[in-house]
Amino acid sequence: MSTKLSITDLPDSEYKGKRVFVRVDFNVPIKDGNISEDYRIRQAIPTIDYLIEKGAKVIVASHLGRPKGRNIPGFSLKPVAERLNEILDIEVNFPGEVFSDKVRNAANNLNEGEVMLLENLRFHKEETDNDEEFAENLASLADIYVNDAFGTCHRAHASTYGMAKYFDKRLAGFVISKELEFLGALLQNPDRPYLVIVGGAKIKDKINALKNLLETADKVLIGGCVAYTFLAAKGVKVGKSLVEKEMIPWAKEALKNYSDKIELPIDHVVADSVENSRVMMVVDREIPEDLMGFDIGPKTVSNFNSHIKGNGTVFWNGPMGLFEMNDFSNGTSSIARSVALATWRGATTVVGGGDSTSALRRAEVLISEIKHVSTGGGASLEFLGGDELPGISVLSDK
Ligand code: AMP
Repeated sequence: MSTKLSITDLPDSEYKGKRVFVRVDFNVPIKDGNISEDYRIRQAIPTIDYLIEKGAKVIVASHLGRPKGRNIPGFSLKPVAERLNEILDIEVNFPGEVFSDKVRNAANNLNEGEVMLLENLRFHKEETDNDEEFAENLASLADIYVNDAFGTCHRAHASTYGMAKYFDKRLAGFVISKELEFLGALLQNPDRPYLVIVGGAKIKDKINALKNLLETADKVLIGGCVAYTFLAAKGVKVGKSLVEKEMIPWAKEALKNYSDKIELPIDHVVADSVENSRVMMVVDREIPEDLMGFDIGPKTVSNFNSHIKGNGTVFWNGPMGLFEMNDFSNGTSSIARSVALATWRGATTVVGGGDSTSALRRAEVLISEIKHVSTGGGASLEFLGGDELPGISVLSDK
């Protein structure tokens, strides 16, 4: 159970006629004015629907890309406003600015159940600087504050952090509430057995989360580049595979403390280089000097799959190899399908990290076949590392 106040914790009467500021994550890919993938927009709809239904005046705000404080038309949220019109089937007010007299008037003139979308918050560098005056201006537009942008909660920006203190009611939307429910359970009381699968590029990026996961999990399967550093720490030859030399002492210590929990690859799909990544062969255990590991091999897939069962909890972060290339996607896709199967069999499955949705898509696994797909890559790892996220800490306690 989350300890943060959610939008459903407030009586309906509190919303009627009130201006509600909702920070969402509409950071969608846009090319030539067209949105190529609108998952993040759809995801925010339940929170917006809920507020409309309660008679609130809804002021939605988001960032898009990294315009670095400049008003760059290619980063405008206008296409998102148009998509919102279609989804909500109402005319969404898009003033094309973040804060001005025009925006204030538009906010004050909203009727109950109407929606307005501000322009890209990051057109002002004051947003990422968490500028005090900017935060106060944003806060002056509304009566109630809702955050539903989990992916930016690890950043103390004006819209995720600075403005919150001006409100009595600082609420979590449905996206954040669900993240807190699932990630909170991983941190505090996961259903056991608790299996963790870790891969991806760098230990350094996930060190705090890894420390906690190794401590709390019953079993930890390690693939991706992360595995080569662990294998190197064990003295296994890994050829030219990407190893984080500076992390070897830590990996040695982890192997000593958690030897009974950690499972490493026993074979690898190797090639000569990324540039010339013809699949050379599958090798057992040791990788020849002039070759690099780009995926876990079939024996490892089979061993890892034998641990992914239909009970307890399965948490997966990071691909098992260079999955963006067909030749090296088998390990990641096999694991994705096993995790989906574990959901069907009754396990609580959680997948997190920036690449996870594309890895699932590549394996033709539906998002609905995973109990919870965490949307915030960095944010979910910081959360699992036990860090207090600024955007969560400012929300009202229950
Ligand atoms: P992360 O963001 O740490 O989860 O890392 C994801 C990236 O790690 C993906 O782009 C993968 O292609 C890459 N990756 C995983 N395993 C390997 C590998 N064996 N060789 C090269 N890149 C890898």
